[in-house]
Amino acid sequence: MIFENTKAFAQQLDAQDSLHKYRDEFHFPKVNDKQVIYFTGNSLGLQPKRAKAYVDEIMNDWANLAVEGHFYAEKPWWDYQERFSKPLSKIVGAKPAEVTVMNTLTVNLHLLMVSFYQPDAKRFKIICEEKAFPSDQYMLQSQVQFHGFKPEEAIVEINRREGEHTICTEDVIAKINEVGDELALVLIGGVNYYTGQVFNMKAITAAGHQVGAYVGWDLAHAAGNVKLELHDWNVDFAAWCSYKYMNAGPGNASGCFVHEKHHHNADLPRFAGWWGHNKERRFKMEPNFDPVHGADGWQISNLPVLSLAPYLASVEMFDEVGMDALIEKRDQLTAYLEFTLHEIDKEVQGNFEIITPSNPSERACQLSVFLHGEGRSLFDYLMKNGVIVDWREPNVIRLAPVPLYCSFEDMYNFGQILKRGILEK
Ligand SMILES: *Cc1c(COP(=O)(O)O)cnc(C)c1O
Repeated sequence: MIFENTKAFAQQLDAQDSLHKYRDEFHFPKVNDKQVIYFTGNSLGLQPKRAKAYVDEIMNDWANLAVEGHFYAEKPWWDYQERFSKPLSKIVGAKPAEVTVMNTLTVNLHLLMVSFYQPDAKRFKIICEEKAFPSDQYMLQSQVQFHGFKPEEAIVEINRREGEHTICTEDVIAKINEVGDELALVLIGGVNYYTGQVFNMKAITAAGHQVGAYVGWDLAHAAGNVKLELHDWNVDFAAWCSYKYMNAGPGNASGCFVHEKHHHNADLPRFAGWWGHNKERRFKMEPNFDPVHGADGWQISNLPVLSLAPYLASVEMFDEVGMDALIEKRDQLTAYLEFTLHEIDKEVQGNFEIITPSNPSERACQLSVFLHGEGRSLFDYLMKNGVIVDWREPNVIRLAPVPLYCSFEDMYNFGQILKRGILEK
């Protein structure tokens, strides 16, 4: 499609967009009494209006039923997480028994590493990406130290090539082969939080298995954003947070995936708790742990249903929309934003550099833009003028045009505000 950088053209794209109506399903903050242009759904998704009813339901059941709510609430609390299995499995390309919701992201990755990182003197190394999200770096360092290894010996980072912003799949695979039978685990962010690069999860997973390692993915920036086929890709485990693209609210519960090939493996160590115990026998208070055969077998504590409620509202909305429709709009919206940025760049000679790959199969809903020559004052200008963006040192703004609630007209309007911000300096 040939794009035009005009309001009329953007409005026409919105008129043709079957997902445009979902914009009204969200609460938008206001600046100067006007709804903002929201580009930080990769950090905290907007609140779906329908979430409140889900929370209220639990508050009411708690008020009216108290402890009986575990079994007699409208949606009984004791197995509330099972309501996620079907819709969430479709979002990440899994079988329903392969997904569950519990805890928070870094906690879940730690717990999954109890099962999938069992180093010995020979096979103890972990491959991850250079400049991984800090929480992931701290997690990996503390895990290898916990097992008595030194991070500088056990953690192998994949570097960018000189002068490049993103990491080549060939380099990841070459490194996996090089580390070979010393490799215990590959654990990478499926979408890099800084550059927005989407990794070739299928090829990397296969390469890791080829040398006998486990392969897990941190899907913080991928869940609800990228077409995932975790089951078919044969991924061992994955976890993601629900508050970024999944719009479940600040700090909310994490989702987990454990491939079904591991569900009956009694040799896999894990940290257990009563909520992972055989469902039919859970309240018999037996002394020996008998795990549920599924991702639910990694549950530990009884469920924080108040926080799961807005997550469920959101997951049901994703199910209604479907990932294919979402991704189709995502690609068009991102391409339109990219086009707008290039147009504005030509008008103001801004010398912007988009460091996110331009190939649609290597990116999703995020463009990270290096604003050469533009300082933090431009970021402040954008924020004052109703554009919520995110700033990363040294000089990068990250723009996530989330297809569920951002419009083509938002992209046009953003371009105009950006242009004024640069010209006014
Ligand atoms: C957002 C994010 C996290 C956050 O972890 P929490 O445990 O939810 O605080 C971790 N890893 C990556 C890659 C992220 O993008």
